[in-house]
Amino acid sequence: MANVRDIVVIGAGHNGLVAAALLARAGRKPLVLEARPFIGGRAVTEEIAPGFRCSALLHAAGPLLPKIVRDLALERHGFAWLHSEARLFAPSPDGTSLCLYDDVAPTVAHLESLSQRDAARYPASRTICGTFCGSGDAFVDWRRVTPTA
Ligand SMILES: Cc1cc2nc3c(=O)[nH]c(=O)nc-3n(C[C@H](O)[C@H](O)[C@H](O)COP(=O)(O)OP(=O)(O)OC[C@H]3O[C@@H](n4cnc5c(N)ncnc54)[C@H](O)[C@@H]3O)c2cc1C
Repeated sequence: MANVRDIVVIGAGHNGLVAAALLARAGRKPLVLEARPFIGGRAVTEEIAPGFRCSALLHAAGPLLPKIVRDLALERHGFAWLHSEARLFAPSPDGTSLCLYDDVAPTVAHLESLSQRDAARYPASRTICGTFCGSGDAFVDWRRVTPTA
């Protein structure tokens, strides 16, 4: 009876794996079923073109909360945050490209070569996005929200 499972998690993407790990920690016996021959869902590194490897879809891992990384001691199991100064790089067939950096100043300098108007407006748009994302934090980490009757 030691192998009896009491919860089934469908899919071994990072959300399924975190859920299963937290359930196991809480004393449950989850069974994780994965359709593909490897785990990790869209967070795995794949060869998207010959010689070019990157995260299939999940490149930012925004909602992977630092608390989960700590609680599950993921760094002990090889997890590491990789920081890229470039947030987005979009090459065009004509040889031009758009690159948005972590910092505003290099982004503005880059945008000036494409559009003076967009470069001038970029800092304000980043401020708006920052405000919007900041107010979304409470939804990402629901434990910060205090329930009221
Ligand atoms: C088009 C697109 C673009 C995206 N771009 C980004 C991005 O740029 N940056 C970013 O951070 N996030 C991006 N995302 C979001 C990101 O991919 C998801 O938030 C993340 O992958 C969700 O993780 P998950 O563990 O819930 O599911 P997934 O990573 O999707 O894992 C689900 C797992 O379940 C398995 N599975 C599915 N059905 C079954 C079944 N019936 N039986 C067994 N196994 C099953 C799958 O094989 C897979 O391994 C994008 C998503 C999409 C669709």
